[in-house]
Amino acid sequence: MLSINWVALLYLLASILIVFSLKGLSSPASARRGNTYGMLGMGIAVLVTLQLSNVQNYMWIFVCIGIGGTIGAIAARKVPMTHMPQTVAFMHSLVGLAAVLIAVSAFANPTAYGIADASGVLHTASRIELFLGTFIGAITFTASLIAFGKLHGFISGNPLVFKGQHHLNLVLGIAMLSFGAWFCVNPTWLPFLLMLSIALVLGVLLIVPIGGADMPVIVSMLNSYSGWAAAGIGFTLNNHMLIVAGALVGSSGAILSYIMCKAMNRSLFNVLLGGFGGDAPAAAAGGVKKDRPVTSGAAEDAAFMLQNARSVVIVPGYGLAVARAQHALKEMVEALTHAGVKVRFAIHPVAGRMPGHMNVLLAEADVPYDIVHEMDEINPEFADTDIALVIGANDVTNPAAKNDPSSPIYGMPILEVAKARNILIIKRSLSAGYAGLDNDLFYMDKTMMIFDDAKKACEKIVQSLD
Ligand code: NDP
Repeated sequence: MLSINWVALLYLLASILIVFSLKGLSSPASARRGNTYGMLGMGIAVLVTLQLSNVQNYMWIFVCIGIGGTIGAIAARKVPMTHMPQTVAFMHSLVGLAAVLIAVSAFANPTAYGIADASGVLHTASRIELFLGTFIGAITFTASLIAFGKLHGFISGNPLVFKGQHHLNLVLGIAMLSFGAWFCVNPTWLPFLLMLSIALVLGVLLIVPIGGADMPVIVSMLNSYSGWAAAGIGFTLNNHMLIVAGALVGSSGAILSYIMCKAMNRSLFNVLLGGFGGDAPAAAAGGVKKDRPVTSGAAEDAAFMLQNARSVVIVPGYGLAVARAQHALKEMVEALTHAGVKVRFAIHPVAGRMPGHMNVLLAEADVPYDIVHEMDEINPEFADTDIALVIGANDVTNPAAKNDPSSPIYGMPILEVAKARNILIIKRSLSAGYAGLDNDLFYMDKTMMIFDDAKKACEKIVQSLD
């Protein structure tokens, strides 16, 4: 068994590795290295924890690691990239559940956790830690399950809004905190279970009114909650590593939520209150309108236009991920560059279904980072671009966000594709995107729609270019 000093030193090393991991993950170029640091840090943390004197029953631990590890390894191989957001949401729910289960077992047997005095009465600080860990964990658990259901399509993505919703949430929030305070004064099962039940219900109620374009903020916010839940439990278990790792996840998730809100021109408060930016009637009213004339063409026409352009900006979106078209797209970019066309990518912060989704796809296909530009960087360039080629993107290009104050996405910054001289859009139909809205871009005189699967269209364009 390692001495206390060694444990502290190794935990410090693991914490530093996790900080480096977060730093690495902030850019696609260093993300792989960041991942390696994270795995190394977590590996050290787990091994050091396993040899602590209060870890007594290895059999159960190894059986659980075996089962969990096998499920995780299979899921990592099988889950398609497009299902990553719901997978992440599901994993957040497991962190919340773990926090609740640890709190229940610590409360059931506080002496075993070293959080009670000689007569078995819970320390005051431990009562507060249990209260915080339990309610944050419970809200994370049910909120993440609902987010998982919405993202996977088990539950309708439309916001569920009803009269008096905010008041109900407020009353439940106050009741939960009151039972928590009661638990801190008099730690018995009644206030604990009442607080826990209300927190579980609140988790559901907080997420059901959120719909459409606001889901990215929720995914990153639940990431933050799961970190705080882990940190709370770190206090209960008196494990510094868990406190540090939980706080890092909690704060980085909170920063990410802030960045996503800024990217979508939303206030976090409004998103949390729910219903903003995606109320069902508005989305339905903005759905695809029939019988508007569009110009459509074949992939071969697109190839002809592309090879005669001087500059092309490609806007990838969720459809690129669905079609797994990134490799065919990379070939197209190589062929165009070879033909002397200046090709760049424009990435919207909420394109796809998870933060960084498009960057991950392009990195997977080894697209050079220096031609991949963030929204603020590339937006001024569209006016001087011959062709904006939109592949499987929709909401992130929708001019309604700028022009239509009645639109649920009004105010969200978009990629200003409409300013390009010509627009080519590859998608299978005129169907709406995630926010359920029609897109005026499809009907502009300078737009040509190529109705095809993104991968097939890219392959056909490459063939024509050859
Ligand atoms: P959208 O969801 O707006 O649109 C995607 C488009 O891809 C659809 O209109 C669809 O049209 C098309 N498509 C689907 N499959 C294919 C295919 N095989 N080949 C070609 N096209 C295809 O995507 P965007 O990336 O523009 O916007 C992301 C949206 O998701 C935003 O509303 C964002 O708020 C939301 N969101 C983002 C998250 C994030 O963290 N990034 C998380 C959760 C939600 P068609 O069916 O006609 O082919």
